[in-house]
Amino acid sequence: MSPQLIVVGAGLFGLTVAREAAERHGLHVLVLDRRSHLGGNAWSEADPETGIEVHRYGPHFFHTNNERVWTYLNRFTAFTPFSYRGQSNHRGEIFPLPVNLATINQFYRAAMSPDEARARLREEASMYQGGPATNFEDKAISLIGRPLYEAFFKGYTTKQWQTDLRLLPAETLTRLPIRYTYDNRWFNDKYQAQPADGYAAWMRSMADHPRIEVRLGVDFLSPTAEVNRGVVGRVPVVYTGPVDEYFGDAEGRLSWRTLDFHTEVHPTGDFQGTAIVNYADVEVPWTRIVEYRHVHPERDYPADRTVTVKEFSRFADTPGDEPYYPVNAVEDRARLTRYRARMEAEPLVWFGGRLGTYQYLDMHMAVAAALSLMDNKLSPYLQTQTV
Ligand code: FAD
Repeated sequence: MSPQLIVVGAGLFGLTVAREAAERHGLHVLVLDRRSHLGGNAWSEADPETGIEVHRYGPHFFHTNNERVWTYLNRFTAFTPFSYRGQSNHRGEIFPLPVNLATINQFYRAAMSPDEARARLREEASMYQGGPATNFEDKAISLIGRPLYEAFFKGYTTKQWQTDLRLLPAETLTRLPIRYTYDNRWFNDKYQAQPADGYAAWMRSMADHPRIEVRLGVDFLSPTAEVNRGVVGRVPVVYTGPVDEYFGDAEGRLSWRTLDFHTEVHPTGDFQGTAIVNYADVEVPWTRIVEYRHVHPERDYPADRTVTVKEFSRFADTPGDEPYYPVNAVEDRARLTRYRARMEAEPLVWFGGRLGTYQYLDMHMAVAAALSLMDNKLSPYLQTQTV
């Protein structure tokens, strides 16, 4: 049966749209992905040597405050409660992250109360002499003072973005909360959990519907693909691939950061005692080490082997590099504005997801955005059609 909707990209955005179109509207949906697996960047698989579930594109921790998204996703997977708690290695000493009362007290070798710690950081911050804090570095120093900034933010963020931190927008900092309690959960959200049977099982369950067909290894933008952009204008398309690629880079390439992963198996049952340790100092080339066994402490993993993955961050500037984090420089924003005008003019194509809209989306945000595209755009359109 010929498809009534084509979804390009089997990530969480594409799978949510496909499922909704099949269930709400009874459409036959064809989902294409150029990779060999479902789930986009949220895909995971068992490490062949140890059986430990490793997230192929970097560690994913599900979290949300959105009741609708939480209820929706619980249809496809059970979740195991899991709160990601950070640690940072600074000059060979481990501190808890995000910066909280334990970090502050350990750093200043003190036993300050919350009020005393606030006063101490206010005092450090008052030494900031610059003008309005409009960039990352000034904002950080004006909030917490130079010592904590230099210990936990400067080196790590420099490695992450490879750019002068005075050129990064101040908003980059607001993502990392500072807490005056001993709570070092990374996220504040009500629901923080991992799919009990892994990400692969969750994604397969979303795609498992009699009216959804998935074809992997198909690049929609390739002229020789079995289904490609030749269908545009005839069949409705939801496109979640990179927007610049869709338009042949006509407005220039949008810049992204990517990650290189270095996987190691160690002959021990526990390498670092926690899922993630950040490396705060610029002299250490990797940004963090992930030890995946700690994401599922409830599982029966081998007692004598463990898998770690070191992450190295760099610009995605070589063909084949995976785009991970949008750089969002001034020139990127100007290009995006021009691409948006082109998207509006594209007949019967809806752009969505992380790559299709050039914005970082957490998993719950990708699902929420897909539900909202259905509610506000696709469903109203489909109701006007006799399908
Ligand atoms: P994607 O998952 O990128 O899926 C897009 C799909 O489109 C891909 O599979 C791609 O192959 C396919 N595609 C692209 N072009 C074409 C084409 N021409 N033809 C066919 N297919 C195409 N979120 C969290 O909630 N918690 C986390 O801890 C977390 N950690 C993350 C860590 C890293 C390193 C990264 C990069 C992301 C992380 N995320 C996390 C975000 C999460 O991965 C995204 O929210 C989610 O992947 C977005 O889904 P998506 O469907 O928009 O995009």
